[in-house]
Amino acid sequence: MMLGYLLARSGVAVTVLEKHRDFFRDFRGDTVHPSTLELLYELGLLEEFLKLRHEKVTSLSATVGDFEFEQANFERLHTHCRFVAIMPQWDFLNFLSEQAKQYPTFDLRLEHEATDVLYENERITGVSVRTPSGTEHIRADLVVACDGRHSAMRAAAHLQVHELGVPIDVLWFRISRASQDPEQVLGRINFGKLLILINRGDYFQAGLVVQKNSFDQIKRKGIEAFRHDVARIAPFLGERVAEIKSWDDVKLLSVQINRLKRWHRPGLLCIGDAAHAMSPVFGVGINLAVQDAVAAANILARPLLRKENTDRYLERVQRRRELRTRITQGLQVLAHGAFRYIFRSEGPLRPSRLFKLVARAHIAQPIVLRVVGVGIVPEHVAGAERESRSLGSTLARTVGMAAGIAAAATVFWLGVRRLRND
Ligand SMILES: Cc1cc2nc3c(=O)[nH]c(=O)nc-3n(C[C@H](O)[C@H](O)[C@H](O)COP(=O)(O)OP(=O)(O)OC[C@H]3O[C@@H](n4cnc5c(N)ncnc54)[C@H](O)[C@@H]3O)c2cc1C
Repeated sequence: MMLGYLLARSGVAVTVLEKHRDFFRDFRGDTVHPSTLELLYELGLLEEFLKLRHEKVTSLSATVGDFEFEQANFERLHTHCRFVAIMPQWDFLNFLSEQAKQYPTFDLRLEHEATDVLYENERITGVSVRTPSGTEHIRADLVVACDGRHSAMRAAAHLQVHELGVPIDVLWFRISRASQDPEQVLGRINFGKLLILINRGDYFQAGLVVQKNSFDQIKRKGIEAFRHDVARIAPFLGERVAEIKSWDDVKLLSVQINRLKRWHRPGLLCIGDAAHAMSPVFGVGINLAVQDAVAAANILARPLLRKENTDRYLERVQRRRELRTRITQGLQVLAHGAFRYIFRSEGPLRPSRLFKLVARAHIAQPIVLRVVGVGIVPEHVAGAERESRSLGSTLARTVGMAAGIAAAATVFWLGVRRLRND
């Protein structure tokens, strides 16, 4: 949707296909990051966007055993909005599509499912589409697959996926929020599990991180045992865990981390989850998808407008985005390593003194802030006015960041290895 908006804004004729009849879907992340808010500012849409109902998350904190510490404080960012806006993804998508519809070259077709790619002389030249009134063929100068982690288009184009392997799954559910509950996003680690609680106003979107493929085993223990596990990790929820009435209230997110070796073929480009499914760690999947869209629009809008063959520009989009994706996925894999220790014992967790020291020193905070808040190196809308930085300061920031990542990774490992279970 973001790419559709940006291309239409540049005058490119763009057709966005969505297989569902609307954007109402199960929870799949509601985070609009400071970098996305910055893009909306650059596009002149921020003020309008912030009129939509949202919650502001200004910091992330974690509780390990009974030890609580702040992981990131977004108020330290140098962006217009120093918070993550929590908003249902469908509101965000509806907002973007309404803005895009103001451009005459934008065409959104709901209930249009792309089922296959069309070739002409080895080049992809369009897609077959299942519609309520039958199959259609839509021809295009360029097909962009933004059809998510189970992308049918990348499969149809025979693009190879490199799986990174993940030790976790997430079980998502809702629990009502009381006025005295914590305001900000909380990760609570204890009793061999991590519970994420995202404040959604009158309820928490809760995610229990469990060992990969353990959902069947958890189900066999029964819903009462599940409720007990949740209440043990977050005692303040009390009787409210009874709101998880049955397994119908619990949705499994089978976590994947992967990326395509090649994000493109002549006539086709993959971006977002279709090019790289992200782990929920750091909650950055939406941010990366939006950033891919901006990079793709910046590189492709002009050649598309000139009706040039864009094949030679597709590798540039991959090159621009791949390193950032790899670094983010690398950090996610590193964080997954910590889960092996968390899962080791179902007993209460008592963090060691070293762990507390590391956590209190906020050594990892600049990294978490960067990765969660704005992304490794954020994209900007071409031509948008923004603060310019000298080459020297950009270089100093990059070197500082690399050194920070190395230091934080080492200390994080040391700290995590010394987590003690009683
Ligand atoms: C449970 C869950 C929680 C998550 N939490 C977070 C979070 O807190 N923060 C975060 O940043 N990320 C989160 N993510 C990840 C995030 O949702 C994705 O990284 C992000 O939405 C990717 O955007 P995308 O546009 O590439 O793909 P998607 O958002 O998956 O969009 C793909 C779209 O294409 C449509 N589509 C699919 N196939 C076709 C087809 N063949 N033809 C036409 N249309 C099609 C789909 O209906 C969908 O609307 C979460 C994901 C899940 C599943």
